[in-house]
Amino acid sequence: MQNPIYMDYAAAPPADPRVVEKMSACLTLEGNFGNPASRSHRLGWLAEEAVENARQQVATLIQADAREIVWTSGATEADNLAIKGVAEAHADKGKHIITSRIEHKAVLDTCAYLETHGYEVTYLDPQPDGRISLEDIANNLRTDTILVSIMYVNNELGCVNPISEIGALCRAKGVLFHVDAAQAMGKTVVDVERDQIDLMSISAHKMYGPKGIGALYVKRGVTIAAQIHGGGHERGMRSGTLPTHQIVGMGEAAAIVTQEFESEEAKLQAFNARFWRAIEPIAGLQRNGSEQHGVANIINLSVEGVDGESLLLSLPQLAVSSGSACNSATMAPSYVLKAIGLNDELAHASIRFSFGRFTTEEEIDQAAQQLATAVKRLKGMAA
Ligand SMILES: *Cc1c(COP(=O)(O)O)cnc(C)c1O
Repeated sequence: MQNPIYMDYAAAPPADPRVVEKMSACLTLEGNFGNPASRSHRLGWLAEEAVENARQQVATLIQADAREIVWTSGATEADNLAIKGVAEAHADKGKHIITSRIEHKAVLDTCAYLETHGYEVTYLDPQPDGRISLEDIANNLRTDTILVSIMYVNNELGCVNPISEIGALCRAKGVLFHVDAAQAMGKTVVDVERDQIDLMSISAHKMYGPKGIGALYVKRGVTIAAQIHGGGHERGMRSGTLPTHQIVGMGEAAAIVTQEFESEEAKLQAFNARFWRAIEPIAGLQRNGSEQHGVANIINLSVEGVDGESLLLSLPQLAVSSGSACNSATMAPSYVLKAIGLNDELAHASIRFSFGRFTTEEEIDQAAQQLATAVKRLKGMAA
């Protein structure tokens, strides 16, 4: 059977072949396989040089200094390190954290864990378009608030939060600001200086790099408590032998985004418009997320009067998500869609299309056509 059309880039895009090529050169005897922490011979120095080059590539992408990048195993670990790290290091100032109801589980579960350890967490409701309002944050700041954690781009809806406004507010109030930017890299311009971000989580595999590597941006002067102890790597913030091949892969992925952002963005915008134009006539179609403030690569929609499971089953040639991939193991309706006001039925009948670097115009057209045909058939059956 032919592979389905891949429309699940927001869950995991394939790695860019240019990334894989760089990674392969860091594993075997002929390659750059040394331990970056080995100070006594050339193989260690070469590995360290490759790691530092990648650190600079990642820093350049987000307008940071290379010394502000801490390698982690992904955005999940970066979220854990940021939130627990601040909670532990700043508990003497207060134990209150503000986040939103539609963060990734890596943030929500970490906050829930802290609640069992004496911290208090305020979970803000999103507006109907999925965005978090600046006023809500301002109204919930307290003297004992130590951290605000809000995602850049929501992984299910694709909506973009007013990050620089929230950053300015937090900076003015002296509260640390953490951003989960896993879905933002390469989809919108991220600048930690402009946005006044103190801590930011990113993941390589969400930007065509390998799975299993990510980074936490830690602004100069911000103190966090380490969560993984060992050899004191990464200036004591995250111990463990640095995986040169993973890091080099993430660096290359970042460099490609830096170089190709504008042309890629233009292509994705055109695909987004083309897809909407093709599916707009479908009766009962509802767009979830923000029309004005959304990334181009994610389209989340529900179809009224159609059973979600039947709809997915009628689209075997499309690899798409119903709700977020992380929640697909359970059949509970997506907590993100429920938080923006969808009832269970509509939440179940929602589909996330996400496309990317290797998507073709034909795939966009075919996906739209398959959706239209499936809805028509299901509605015909229901009538
Ligand atoms: C994918 C994702 C994560 C988890 O990243 P990993 O690197 O897979 O751990 C966290 N937050 C958001 C918003 C994501 O999309």
